Amino acid sequence: PNQQQSNQKDLRICVAVRKRPLNKREIAKKDNDVITIPNKDHCLVHVPKSKVDLTKYLDNQTFKFDYTFDEKSSNELIYRYTAAPLIDTIFNGGNATVFAYGQTGSGKTFTMGGDLQMAKTDYSHGIYAQTARDIFQRLSLPQHRSSIEIFVTFYEIYCGKVFDLLNNKKRLRVLEDQKGLVQVCDRKEQQVKSVQDVLNIIQNGMNIRTSGTTAANANSSRSHAILQIILKTSSPVSANTNAPASSSSSSRNNNHNNPAVLRRLMKEVGKMSLIDLAGSERGKDTASGDRLQRMEGSEINKSLLALKECIRALGRGDGCHVPFRGSTLTKVLRDSFIGDKSKVCMIAMVSPTHSDVENTMNTLRYADRVK
Ligand code: ADP
Ligand code: MG
Repeated sequence: PNQQQSNQKDLRICVAVRKRPLNKREIAKKDNDVITIPNKDHCLVHVPKSKVDLTKYLDNQTFKFDYTFDEKSSNELIYRYTAAPLIDTIFNGGNATVFAYGQTGSGKTFTMGGDLQMAKTDYSHGIYAQTARDIFQRLSLPQHRSSIEIFVTFYEIYCGKVFDLLNNKKRLRVLEDQKGLVQVCDRKEQQVKSVQDVLNIIQNGMNIRTSGTTAANANSSRSHAILQIILKTSSPVSANTNAPASSSSSSRNNNHNNPAVLRRLMKEVGKMSLIDLAGSERGKDTASGDRLQRMEGSEINKSLLALKECIRALGRGDGCHVPFRGSTLTKVLRDSFIGDKSKVCMIAMVSPTHSDVENTMNTLRYADRVK
């Protein structure tokens, strides 16, 4: 199909699949590639009959998604079809969310963050960086100049607990008021003025995410990382419509000079959440792992199930009945699942190998049921 047309598919919920290439180790082991992307929206899993328990798998299984990307697809291409169409959403007052889903090693961090394996790590092609680039490009257009400011938060959820990646992994509390409004308290929100500012935040945050104790190290695949790029308008007049009409311009000017007051007057007008989910694999952890691993595994399982239900509720337009309380992940993302203007994109990452086919099938089934 015409590429321009495909780019303009206007989807409330978009589900895409990305297959990564075989790596050197897999090629050396002669692990078979069992995944084919025959065209732009199909994914075929073919398991050689001789090599599989036939009670579990059919010979060939086809799945259809909004978009499918083969192993030759670049991060730029993935971005163009998944996150790029959501830039409009956040500039139109909506919340947009992109999830990277898949087992550990399937390419979630590569897709979101960029290539971290090279001698010099390169964050500039990941969805984080490309989104930031597009947002700043929009802001340079005359109609947006000076009226919108950009803020970033970056935190991770591990075993249901929230840690600030912008502030030395400080533990953050999640509170919900009577109206169901959820707040991550005291999370650091950093204003950014350029793409480079965002890249610096990503680099620092990703270092914090994977460094530290041995246990914390392994946690990077056991935790959800959430990067939010928030658009705010700094106009105190439009942000504070309840202000008494008598409020003089001189007191407004005073407010401008007081950062605390200014922040209170700023109104969030759109938000992009980019989420590198915890590894979706199950099995070993729950069966033979130690207590901590079992707890991690069941937390992840719970949050991924809750996530699926929340996205499905968004798809049904079921604004009042989003089952967001099922996990910390869905709680902190509550406002991304409600409202007419919210949009979600799920990118399901799959490994090509025969030895990973069970996880791949689970990923494809999950992605298939999100819509
Ligand atoms: P995950 O975050 O899902 O655990 P990673 O993103 O860390 O997986 O990817 C695992 C390895 O595979 C990394 O070495 C990464 O560089 C490589 N990789 C993943 N996806 C691709 C891709 N599309 N092209 C090339 N290498 C990839
Ligand atoms: Mg990762």
